[in-house]
Amino acid sequence: MSAVKRYFREPLVRASVDRIRFPDICPVCGRSATTATVVRLTPGQKTWLRPIDNPAFMPAMRRFLGISSPATIAFRIPVCEEHYYSDEDYMRFNTVVVCGNGLMLILFMLFTIIAGGQYYKYGDLPTWYLMISVLFLSLFVLSILGSRRPLKRALKFIGFDSPHKNVFIAVHDADYRRRLIEENPNTTELVNWILIT
Ligand SMILES: [Zn+2]
Repeated sequence: MSAVKRYFREPLVRASVDRIRFPDICPVCGRSATTATVVRLTPGQKTWLRPIDNPAFMPAMRRFLGISSPATIAFRIPVCEEHYYSDEDYMRFNTVVVCGNGLMLILFMLFTIIAGGQYYKYGDLPTWYLMISVLFLSLFVLSILGSRRPLKRALKFIGFDSPHKNVFIAVHDADYRRRLIEENPNTTELVNWILIT
């Protein structure tokens, strides 16, 4: 298997899975945290690796050494109330959004057929149809905006070099990145490249 070296313009934080403590500020807006969210990750087979000091670099070697991938790893991240996020809530919300948008699309097609009939008869699109189009379009845009997850953009968990050892995190905000490093001396470092297998 060949590995590809990938460089990052903004350095990644390489942190100890067991010892990392996230700063007491919101990674999205920088305000002091009032609550915390738990991010669960499942180190998959497609792991981003740095082979340094890592006997588990090759999947074949992992099998040989009998190192199994753990089911999930959980990180507790302090956030503000506004940027609180949970995977469960998101899944629920997303299901509602997908169903809602599907229903809107069906209704919209129905209205389009009716409006098309009127256009054919009178040569003019009815006003109610234009209003409904604007309404549906704004609801659609709102649902997309609402389903964006600011926390996932502020902190991107890129991967692990070995499931229980180190995690690579892309931190959007430079101040937050600095604090993360400062508050985890000896167990974090900045890296500019990783190997992807
Ligand atoms: Zn916030």
